[in-house]
Amino acid sequence: MPIDPERQKQAKEYARIHHRLFALNLVLTGLALLGVLALGLNVWLKQVILSLTHDAWLATFLYFVVALVAYEGLFFPLAYYRGLVLPHRYGLSTQTQRAWLVDVAKGGTLTIILGGLVVEVIYSFLRGDLPLPLLSAGGAGGGWWLWASAFMILFSVVLANLAPVLIFPLFFKFKPLEDAELVHRLTALAERARTRVRGVYTMMLSEKTTAANAALMGLGNTRRIVLGDTLYQNYTHDEIETVLAHELGHHVHHDIGWGLIVQSGLTLAGFYIADVFLKWTVAWLGYEGIADLAAFPLLGLAFGIFGLITMPLTNAYSRWREALADDYALATTRNAPGFVGAMEKLANQNLAELEPEPWVEFLLYDHPPIGKRLKRATGI
Ligand SMILES: [Zn+2]
Repeated sequence: MPIDPERQKQAKEYARIHHRLFALNLVLTGLALLGVLALGLNVWLKQVILSLTHDAWLATFLYFVVALVAYEGLFFPLAYYRGLVLPHRYGLSTQTQRAWLVDVAKGGTLTIILGGLVVEVIYSFLRGDLPLPLLSAGGAGGGWWLWASAFMILFSVVLANLAPVLIFPLFFKFKPLEDAELVHRLTALAERARTRVRGVYTMMLSEKTTAANAALMGLGNTRRIVLGDTLYQNYTHDEIETVLAHELGHHVHHDIGWGLIVQSGLTLAGFYIADVFLKWTVAWLGYEGIADLAAFPLLGLAFGIFGLITMPLTNAYSRWREALADDYALATTRNAPGFVGAMEKLANQNLAELEPEPWVEFLLYDHPPIGKRLKRATGI
């Protein structure tokens, strides 16, 4: 199936709307934060919570939940439009409003639990109330950012390991793939890449989207091959094999290990900058110290800005590793037509732009655009 020019026109439109919404979201978030600080809502919320409890852990949790709910509530119309209305208009979503809302509720609960845990641990380091080296008690929190970085790195590894068994099943149904021939072929491919996998599964993506995807999920004992049913039903075995070969390319190139190293460096840099930023703004705004709950939005702001600045860098790194995984897929399957067929179907099905503007690619693309991937495969 060659590239459909009509779908490409739609893809361009869809991408343009998405980029505008992304920019709008950023500007509005910035304005909302400024508004909160200017009106002193962050200080007011702290005072209300401290009038209810003097338990530092409970106060931190309440502050986090109220701030999160207020933000999500304020930005709900934007999320609704971007997550449901727009994909429906372009025929990408198969979800009812009700099912979408259930997913939002599940996601929110998960954010409260996991985010709450992270915030509690970070604030305990900020307060310096654990007897750890480099931490000074009483709120000075000398080396808090080192401890916070170490915790976040560990947390992300544990989460990557557990997500396939604990988190993804909350949102998607998984079934072992019953196509014996394909299972055999994909398992053989994994063995050639010296990757131990615990089974081949299909994931019921079609309950939510018309888009196709496949992945190698999990680490160690939880690693498994997962094919979207939207991929399995519409792609030839040859095409599916090249898609999985790309995923295995990441394994062969140790991309999980390298990714962890890069991510750890970024985490350390992010927390260090957050420390400098917090100390500076807290003194400037006259808050009680870096562990002052009123400074919680500032901590969020520091990470938001850091994430935005580093996004083009991490995306460039990711595009490089993705291109290498494509090379591996082409070399190991020796099946350029299968790869090209898969890419063309993905572009049509997922409304992916073949050739985005260079600045869009630079800022937002974590994979090379499909146009480039096709050129690399066909050598043109
Ligand atoms: Zn990849």
